[in-house]
Amino acid sequence: MFESLTDKFNTTFKKLSGRGRITEANVSDAMNEVRKALLEADVNYKVVKQFCKDVKQAAMGAEVINSLKPGQLMVKIVQDELTKLMGPEDSNIFFVSPGPTVILLAGLQGSGKTTTAAKLAYRLKKEGRKPMMVAVDLQRPAAIQQLQTLGEQIEVPVHCDFDTKDAVKVSKSGVKEAKKAGCDTVILDTAGRLHVDDELMTEVSNVAKATSPHQIYLVCDAMIGQDAVNSAKEFNNRLELDGVILTKLDGDARGGAALSVKAVTGKPVKFIGLGEKIDNLEHFHPDRMASRILGMGDVITLVEKAQEQFDEKEAEKMQNKMAKGTFGLDDFLKQMAKIRKMGGLMSMLKLMPGIGNKLEGLNMDDKEFNRIEGIIHSMTPAERSEPDMLNPSRRRRIAAGSGVNVTDVAGLVKQFRQSREMMKMMASGGGGGLGAMKGM
Ligand code: GDP
Repeated sequence: MFESLTDKFNTTFKKLSGRGRITEANVSDAMNEVRKALLEADVNYKVVKQFCKDVKQAAMGAEVINSLKPGQLMVKIVQDELTKLMGPEDSNIFFVSPGPTVILLAGLQGSGKTTTAAKLAYRLKKEGRKPMMVAVDLQRPAAIQQLQTLGEQIEVPVHCDFDTKDAVKVSKSGVKEAKKAGCDTVILDTAGRLHVDDELMTEVSNVAKATSPHQIYLVCDAMIGQDAVNSAKEFNNRLELDGVILTKLDGDARGGAALSVKAVTGKPVKFIGLGEKIDNLEHFHPDRMASRILGMGDVITLVEKAQEQFDEKEAEKMQNKMAKGTFGLDDFLKQMAKIRKMGGLMSMLKLMPGIGNKLEGLNMDDKEFNRIEGIIHSMTPAERSEPDMLNPSRRRRIAAGSGVNVTDVAGLVKQFRQSREMMKMMASGGGGGLGAMKGM
């Protein structure tokens, strides 16, 4: 999602490598590049201005620690400031007891409201709650059916009324129905329009007045960049928003919306949508997002995802191995087979430190998998657990055995070794991933 921003940041900081210390001049140079990168990523210009000022101030005040090169130090500073810009983390939903807790979703048409209503309901259901969805979008003809279909799919009840165009009436009867059915959470899927207009705002405000929601979330399409942020500002002026849900961060979004929305509206991003599937909704973690933007990967989310999919003991073992740097090619192969089974490989790989930002244009298909698998299978068990022993003659033997070029074997081993080193640094928490920036 943030590939281009990540690339720009990486190039900028590489330029600082080798320079002895941080000076005002080289910070200014770097900041010019960072400014351009942020503007290109469609970050609000006021936010960019303040951000660059904050980074510069932090950089000039920073002691150059012996073990860090200026490039590393700048990455750390930018990462901290990005985290601050998008934070503090606030992804909890406020629930009332006795319920039901009413959550109103507002947003423009096409922002992903209906899909998000179902994703949220699915998530809450998994957490042991009893949600009900209410089809308050009476503008878009197919919206009610869409919500009903999603409700059936995730086995969550949907309240709707095909005989009225009165949004207030449906939302009130929805909350009543939820109480009667013993549901503890009501998600109101309200109507959107193509643009923010008075009619839309009046309707949503009336629904909010009639149902007194405990939480009002704005669903925003991250792909429309600054327009998303501007509409968030307008919604925030008319409704007392509690948070924002940014959708379509898996697409070609330049990332600007994620970076600016908190700074512009003062409201936290609660969740992010990372795909069309029902389980593609994640809590928003500013620190992890900052790492992703900087191309440092997101080991924590990766391990969490693994924990969801694999049994806990095994995930723990993998985490330990990552931290100790004893994660071998055999483990790599095992995990790869599982990820392959799970699908969604590209999105998982993007979380890997040092790999995510190299994926652009790379389409990891089954053939590529088979090639990697072939190479690893041609190694002895000892070589798999300790790829450092792969001298040129061993590499030649493996290449011949798996029908690839020697450079392919060397490339795989090099990339694996780098990732393992980074995983070790990041999984053990030391230096917040800074150690992973070797060679900068
Ligand atoms: P609504 O008009 O606001 O209710 O929007 P919909 O829920 O109908 O969503 C509009 C389109 O966006 C649909 O095709 C959804 O599948 C798609 N969509 C929603 N959220 C995401 C997301 O996080 N990622 C991607 N790629 N597509 C999404």
